[in-house]
Amino acid sequence: MTKFVFVTGGVVSSLGKGIAAASLAAILESRGLKVTLLKLDPYINVDPGTMSPFQHGEVFVTEDGAETDLDLGHYERFISAKMRKANNFTTGQIYESVIRKERRGEYLGKTVQVIPHITNEIQAFVERGARSTWDGHPDVAIVEIGGTVGDIESLPFLEAARQMSLRLGRNQAAFVHLTLVPYIATAGELKTKPTQHSVQKLREIGISPDVLLCRADRPIPDDERAKISLFSNVPQDAVISVWDVDTIYKIPQMLHDQGMDTIICDELKLTPQPADLSMWAKLVEAIEHPKHEVTIGMVGKYVDLTESYKSLIEALKHASIHTSTRVNIEYLDSEQIEKEGTDCLKQLDAILVPGGFGRRGTEGKIKAIRYARENRVPYLGICLGMQLAVIEFARDVAHLAGANSTEFDPSTDHPVVALITEWLDRDGRIEQRSEDSELGGTMRLGAQRVPIAPGTLASRIYGDHVNERHRHRYEVNNHYVPQLEAGGLVISARTPSENLPEIMELPQQIHPWFVGVQFHPEFTSTPRDGHPLFKAYVEAALAGQAARKKAA
Ligand code: GLN
Repeated sequence: MTKFVFVTGGVVSSLGKGIAAASLAAILESRGLKVTLLKLDPYINVDPGTMSPFQHGEVFVTEDGAETDLDLGHYERFISAKMRKANNFTTGQIYESVIRKERRGEYLGKTVQVIPHITNEIQAFVERGARSTWDGHPDVAIVEIGGTVGDIESLPFLEAARQMSLRLGRNQAAFVHLTLVPYIATAGELKTKPTQHSVQKLREIGISPDVLLCRADRPIPDDERAKISLFSNVPQDAVISVWDVDTIYKIPQMLHDQGMDTIICDELKLTPQPADLSMWAKLVEAIEHPKHEVTIGMVGKYVDLTESYKSLIEALKHASIHTSTRVNIEYLDSEQIEKEGTDCLKQLDAILVPGGFGRRGTEGKIKAIRYARENRVPYLGICLGMQLAVIEFARDVAHLAGANSTEFDPSTDHPVVALITEWLDRDGRIEQRSEDSELGGTMRLGAQRVPIAPGTLASRIYGDHVNERHRHRYEVNNHYVPQLEAGGLVISARTPSENLPEIMELPQQIHPWFVGVQFHPEFTSTPRDGHPLFKAYVEAALAGQAARKKAA
């Protein structure tokens, strides 16, 4: 039977609960256990895909096409289980499900209440989520509860976790609580009071943590740990210090060194093999001792350029690990390029335009793409970055003046990127995808297997097919493909049923490395395996750098 570890957070948000949960999962996996992770989000939105990335960071897309919290990205990067739609749910989804049942009369006219109906539904969703990976029952499901203890929103989730641990019985569930131990410079001291209060809050609702993870900017000395232990009723060896580190991939080792996995296994009466974290040690070693260095310019909207590209930034880090190359990322504001030109691109070894929505900044991105094409700078365009590369090529090479996407110019003379209003979904039904479709229901989402044309750069990178995840509405317009091909553009992969362009590239006689992909490769990159496309991209940046040095 699956055992559960609930991970809660206290004092403030953004302490890295997702990474802590994922790191514990990684250690348990290295001990031979089958592990999965779940994220419970206490907000009311039913569809996280429609939430602003500025408020909430990146939307992570699972293989089965769910738009989820970015923590699921951390999960997939730390353990081998693939997350599915059921691994992330919100308060909104719980209420929606309960209200639907009530409308169908399933509660037989009883008064429907938070306890037990909402809390039961949460438990059912948790159990369903735990079963959604590993074809059945994992040994351990780690359940991260979003929000901070003390918030009104997260109360039903905490209550459900408490009830669940009671229902499952002894040694079936454990609780981990993550708090902040701030360093107060004027006093020259680490302060434990917020942690004490936060554990009190948790105990008020009937949860006694088995492990406290105490975040601080430095290691927490033993006397402070003893104090936290005394006030919070958590044994001192279970008061674990988590200090700031330069790479998140050091966290599994840090937690293991302090015995966290053993405490959890003891609590759950599990006796797996010893941990083997050598893979993580190798990754950290590669990050800390690179042999080469490149600088990549990432061109985006100024406001987007942080949390919204979590997976992409990690994917570049993985490529750095697997090419022994330090990859510096320069974030370049496309609106500035629009106004001031491309001088800021001169020192770069490669250029990248990531995914994005809306017209703002697109002309600056197109300028950056033209610069990359004309100056033979390695270019990777992801989703929007591919669409804009097609637009740039159409305007400048294929003589289609004013070419655009109907997303940015609905009355363009040459809609080289446009909406496909009728779309066959994977079950063969016709799905309407038009501009007026209901928000959140109009995207091409999730993984799709697509064959690659032999002899292309894409086939050298990926082999004979690609299976990557999508999250977009617009497509390269097939009607223009012959004109683009006549101009020299190569479509190296097309979707099998609809024949839509999936990958574009320039022939290597024209440009050493210019690739646009309609999917989001960053979602499948992991630190342990890296990713073929990002690896090839960084290698192209290195090759370009070497060629320039030789020429100089
Ligand atoms: N805005 C574009 C579309 O909807 C690209 C989306 C993306 O980059 N994820 O098709």
